[in-house]
Amino acid sequence: MRVGVIGGGQLAWMMVDAAKKLGIELVIQTPNSDDPAVSIAKETLFAPVNDANATQELSDRVDVITFENEFVDLDALSKIQACFRPSLSALKPLLDKYDQRSFLKANHLPTPNFWLPGEQPVSFPIVVKTRRLGYDGQGTLIIRDQASWNEAIAKLESVPIVIEEFVPFDRELAVMVARSTKGEIVVYPVVETQQENQVCRRVIAPAEVSESVEREISAIAHTLLDRLEVVGIYGIEFFLTKDDRVLVNEIAPRTHNSGHYTIEACETSQFEQQLRAVSGLLLGSSALLSHGALMVNLLGFERAESDYLEKREAIAKLPNSFVHWYGKSESRPGRKLGHVTALLDSGDSALELANTIESIWYPENI
Ligand code: ADP
Repeated sequence: MRVGVIGGGQLAWMMVDAAKKLGIELVIQTPNSDDPAVSIAKETLFAPVNDANATQELSDRVDVITFENEFVDLDALSKIQACFRPSLSALKPLLDKYDQRSFLKANHLPTPNFWLPGEQPVSFPIVVKTRRLGYDGQGTLIIRDQASWNEAIAKLESVPIVIEEFVPFDRELAVMVARSTKGEIVVYPVVETQQENQVCRRVIAPAEVSESVEREISAIAHTLLDRLEVVGIYGIEFFLTKDDRVLVNEIAPRTHNSGHYTIEACETSQFEQQLRAVSGLLLGSSALLSHGALMVNLLGFERAESDYLEKREAIAKLPNSFVHWYGKSESRPGRKLGHVTALLDSGDSALELANTIESIWYPENI
């Protein structure tokens, strides 16, 4: 079996162990020869992810095509013959943040209020998001006063945006969910994600939430993947309010940063699950193998070409810790360079361990 993957970043790179296990060859479409997944791919087609002609060529070399990056040109892709999993129609409502919120609303799924510029008077705080191509908080602005609003509007003058109510959430949660070609659905544990400056810093699995929150999240996950007839794995992010209401923040139609902990902590990693789903296999169990897990992103904190070997080795020496280093050629502030997952016993404090890891990783003045 040959699986084509659009995108060559760390999410594609982390598919390699699962691909080997399942006897699958990966063929990658990505523009950069130094992207993480190029080194592990059987073949690479060097082209931008939104180059549909290249994807046509990719389809000639593989049995199915899946996504690690959804910034594709759907209209152009719809003109080519290929087996996409998830299908293009399962991606269509999700690639634009306004469409995504509209889709959630139309399906009566809870989501923050949203509107287009000019549709409602602004009152602060408010959240402005670019409708397309936003990731890691780039394109998401939390606006607290008129001056920042004026600045944002001037800066984004020619960029389509959506405006949202600011949700004063208590915590942020996320879940991975997979659906097979036969419509079987497997939901992973609900996790807590912690963001700073709109970028994910830590993930704690499982999240300490009530059974009703867990049930509601599972029901939303089922509804979404069934309605979209997804074949593959999706990551869903949520806001949890102080009165235990759950709102969907965002749906990612692929593996997700909040699911990295599954590599060591679950019976089936999110990457194996994606490959199982898209190649028509039965799904694996999502059960946790340990009491819990902590994932800490190793984010760039400077512009540099360092491989931070000493820091990585020190973190890898912590008990039950597994460092994944993506091998990116340069560091930039906020860029995801790697991550560490630590398996937790019942007495372990995730927050203390997160602080220990971050005190090794980040220089003191940051
Ligand atoms: P991206 O697609 O770049 O990940 P998100 O929409 O997920 O952007 O936003 C990134 C982070 O910004 C969220 O995890 C959350 O912390 C904050 N955020 C986004 N939307 C809102 C909102 N409506 N209210 C409050 N915080 C928000």
